[in-house]
Amino acid sequence: MSQQGAWGHWQPRLRSGRLVELTNSWFRQVECTACGAVVGRACRSAGGYPTDHHKARRDAAGVPPYKEWRARGLITAPEPRPATALVQAAQAAQQEFRIDQPLGDAVALVRRFLADRTGRETVSEEVLDHYDQEVRALLLARGPEGSAEIVTVLAGQLASLLKGMSPIAPDAVYTEVVTKQIAYARAHQRLGRLLSDLENEQATPED
Ligand SMILES: [Zn+2]
Repeated sequence: MSQQGAWGHWQPRLRSGRLVELTNSWFRQVECTACGAVVGRACRSAGGYPTDHHKARRDAAGVPPYKEWRARGLITAPEPRPATALVQAAQAAQQEFRIDQPLGDAVALVRRFLADRTGRETVSEEVLDHYDQEVRALLLARGPEGSAEIVTVLAGQLASLLKGMSPIAPDAVYTEVVTKQIAYARAHQRLGRLLSDLENEQATPED
């Protein structure tokens, strides 16, 4: 399934040319451990097309130094805070339930994950990257204080949901869920490493 197919209305917002250039070269300072893109080259999707920088690469490169770029006059725009689909959904949830911003954000976050038909465990790396970008944009827009509130609200919602589902032993249910998920994630990581080792053995260095 293509990214567009998976996301429907999701569209990346175009940013200023200079900022895109700087951001691209920032992330491309390091190679990508997810798709194998070398320094200076764009990330590639599984189908071989140029795609957004993978999470592993963004994490490795670190957050771009927007402040420094502004101080040096390289960019004039404020830090990018695109109104992503998630931010829009959070605003819609606020209006729908007439609730405050942290609760609206939490509702939108949970709904985003529920909206995927099969749940997180079978979602592709690309889709997870988009989740990650959208959540990042939402938290940047809310700032550190607002983000802390979202985390508190989410944890509270999770606790009350578990109590509702299993009023006798919600903590045991939660422990079981976490144990299962971690076991799954570790198995998934082992498989991923195995596959990427195999790919690296077969891959040609040319792109
Ligand atoms: Zn990549």
